[in-house]
Amino acid sequence: MNKILKPLLKTLNKNEFCTEQGIIKNYCIDWRGKFKGTAEILFFPKNVKSVVKIMKFCFKNSISIVPQGGNTSLVGGSVPRVNKGEVIINLSKLNKIREIDPISNTVTLEGGCILQDASDKLEPFGLEMPISIGSKGSCQIGGNIATNAGGLNVIKYGSIRSNILGIEAVLPNGELHNDLKTIKKNNTGFDLKQLLIGSEGTLGIITAATLKIYKKPSERIVLILSTDKINETLEAYKTITKNFGELISAFELMNKFSVNLIKKLDNKLKLPFSGNYYCLIELTNFLDIKNFNNFIIDKFGEVSFKKMKIIIAKSESENKIFWRIREEIPLAEKLLKNVIQHDVSLPLNLIDKFIEKSSSSLKKLDPKIFIINFGHLGDNNLHFNVFVDKILDNKEYKKIQKNINKIVFSNVIKYNGSISAEHGIGQLRRKELKKFKSDDEIKKMVQIKKIFDPKGIMNPGKII
Ligand SMILES: Cc1cc2nc3c(=O)[nH]c(=O)nc-3n(C[C@H](O)[C@H](O)[C@H](O)COP(=O)(O)OP(=O)(O)OC[C@H]3O[C@@H](n4cnc5c(N)ncnc54)[C@H](O)[C@@H]3O)c2cc1C
Repeated sequence: MNKILKPLLKTLNKNEFCTEQGIIKNYCIDWRGKFKGTAEILFFPKNVKSVVKIMKFCFKNSISIVPQGGNTSLVGGSVPRVNKGEVIINLSKLNKIREIDPISNTVTLEGGCILQDASDKLEPFGLEMPISIGSKGSCQIGGNIATNAGGLNVIKYGSIRSNILGIEAVLPNGELHNDLKTIKKNNTGFDLKQLLIGSEGTLGIITAATLKIYKKPSERIVLILSTDKINETLEAYKTITKNFGELISAFELMNKFSVNLIKKLDNKLKLPFSGNYYCLIELTNFLDIKNFNNFIIDKFGEVSFKKMKIIIAKSESENKIFWRIREEIPLAEKLLKNVIQHDVSLPLNLIDKFIEKSSSSLKKLDPKIFIINFGHLGDNNLHFNVFVDKILDNKEYKKIQKNINKIVFSNVIKYNGSISAEHGIGQLRRKELKKFKSDDEIKKMVQIKKIFDPKGIMNPGKII
């Protein structure tokens, strides 16, 4: 392969590629360590011209490409498969912020820009990105767009799709698609950027994008509400959204088991809650914090939370502790063996039934099963992860995984939900996609893919 690539490598800067397998192998494994592949070469293009050059060459020589951002994909989307002759294009060096426009409230940044870096650059302007996710220190804007990432602020700003005004992308044949507009209204027929959003690297490489940005709230109030039963949590959600409306910037659910996992990372951490379910609620966009504190107490007074307890963080440092609990759940969960993850979406009024029905069927399947439940409740999104507290060999793991997925996904269908709320399809949910989309939908997706990528070189083995 390196022989075929030689003419291309001659035209690139030396630090724009790596041929050392000792280094490449670190880029061939996903965040959870569940998908491992191999790649012939690893590219680090420093500018759009180099991306075009690499893509044109790969297209001509029918070489398959895996676009890679921060490699935080939880569905094996950003890593190559085994021995398929694939190459990785890692976007981390294409990371400039091209323009911050505080009049239009837009930012134009390159695909490899790390989400946290973009947020830090906006801070001095009193502005914030429309998205915040647990992986913000590593994930990149291109990866966020390619996965249509959700996260903690969807309840306030919508998923990233709702915030993209323009995209620049290199298509599989090396053609540059430049649609970097900053305008909010543009009704000119089919909107091609919508296809690139959520395409998981199967249609092209996103090299830059223009996003809406927002005034950063100067203060926030974070509180944790605890209940014993999930239907009480939903009651609280109904009343709180009615009372606080657009002041809510996050509404996160965590069950007791998932919160207790945090102690694995920090055994000194004291959790001042009782109950079985906790909601972390963040309120922003109020003007006067002293009056607002009274307002909150009044509003909660109006609601008769007989069976619920509420703890309001008293300072910004307490706000951070509450958020740390929520954000560290995936890190603590990573330390466990035999966790079968599900990132599902369900109609809010049925989430309680889904949890109860699935949990009881799973307990019957094996009493050593425990549910790690957390997620962005305000967006109907539930991470329903199933921990099997047993030593399992590979065959036993595969068997129980199959049975667990059967129970969980049949309930997702029963309650009219989705098998992927925000993480995408990647390699993990590829087979299941067939059960959740009609043959006609899949056929149309394949036809669209062929228009963009007639040779099938873009991230093969992902989605379809
Ligand atoms: C701790 C943790 C918390 C998380 N929390 C959330 C959350 O709250 N919400 C959420 O939505 N996700 C979450 N995720 C999942 C993940 O972080 C997101 O999917 C994220 O958007 C991926 O960005 P990335 O740069 O890491 O992309 P990668 O993982 O590198 O790639 C993801 C997919 O996008 C493609 N891709 C990457 N860059 C480009 C590009 N420039 N052009 C075209 N295709 C590209 C890849 O081929 C792959 O298919 C979390 C992950 C972790 C580890």
